Amino acid sequence: MSDSVQLLEELVNASGVSGFEGPVRDLIKRHLESITNIEIDNLGSIIAQKEGSDEKPRVMIAGHMDEVGLMVSHIGKDGFIKFQPLGGWWDQVMLAQRVTVMGSKGEVPGVIGSKPPHLLSPEERKKVVEMKEMFVDIGASSDEDVKKMGIKPGDPIVVVSSFTRMRKENMLMGKALDDRVGCAVFIEVIKRLQGVDHPNTVFGVGTVQEEVGLRGAKTSADFINPDVAFAAEVSIAGDTPGVAESEAQARLGKGPSIVVLDGSLIPNTKLRDLTVSTAEEHGIPHQFQAGIRGGTDAGRIHLHGIGVPSLVIGVPTRYIHSHVGVIDHNDFENAVKLLVEIIKKLDINMVNGLRP
Ligand SMILES: [Zn+2]
Repeated sequence: MSDSVQLLEELVNASGVSGFEGPVRDLIKRHLESITNIEIDNLGSIIAQKEGSDEKPRVMIAGHMDEVGLMVSHIGKDGFIKFQPLGGWWDQVMLAQRVTVMGSKGEVPGVIGSKPPHLLSPEERKKVVEMKEMFVDIGASSDEDVKKMGIKPGDPIVVVSSFTRMRKENMLMGKALDDRVGCAVFIEVIKRLQGVDHPNTVFGVGTVQEEVGLRGAKTSADFINPDVAFAAEVSIAGDTPGVAESEAQARLGKGPSIVVLDGSLIPNTKLRDLTVSTAEEHGIPHQFQAGIRGGTDAGRIHLHGIGVPSLVIGVPTRYIHSHVGVIDHNDFENAVKLLVEIIKKLDINMVNGLRP
């Protein structure tokens, strides 16, 4: 197994819902502490600083550590747990899925339950069960029972789904690809810049709380004061049945997406063009993605100070914000390659030239 597949596996299997990213942060630290200077801001975003030949420009590459999850909100007398979502969930994909409640006495396994369909009227059965009707069943028989297991309101709940290499070895399946893929991208970029000349300082950043409102992107950008920024993200794959190409353009295996529009960012035009020409120059496959919904950390970072030229590079991913996503490892590798090639030439004159 290639090192980067192993890295993805470790990152994807780690638990880290919004606000509880500790295990992911520890992993990033373990991978980068021997080759970078590590700092952690007061909200918990991890910043790995890799020196090049020049102090400036300061190049930020952000991948968010948090995954969508749940939080214990209320424990019923009957021992069933009510929850609130952390991040955007589609009610349809939640039912009957396994979860882990991260209690003070360790991990407690459970399942998301609801009223059984056998007891619903034919009309009711046609409707999607709403999240507010669901609960987590940990096999407890009373609220006292739940308490004894070390669970209280505020505890995070993580989905259970283990990383799998599919029959075609480049196809990878797992939870939390949004956005552990981005974390793996900046880790690999920094590793591959070892012993390579680059006229800048690179900051690989694992941000916290992206899924609940791009929060870690704000504090980590304040910490770094970047001159230019990339968000390493997933992009919505549109290559499954029922999706028109005009709705979502990204296809697995066709290279990283250069995101020309999303709900939070119109990228810096010159940075966008520089990225495209770098990909063409090095024969790196790439595609374009344009949508008006959704946002990424770059949406917050580009508004830092008087503005930071920013761009999103996305690894096409199917079924994000569910228990299982699917990516093509080749797209990941090409996203890493593209960023490495850009960073090798991104000097202060080039960054000054990005200004409108
Ligand atoms: Zn994301």
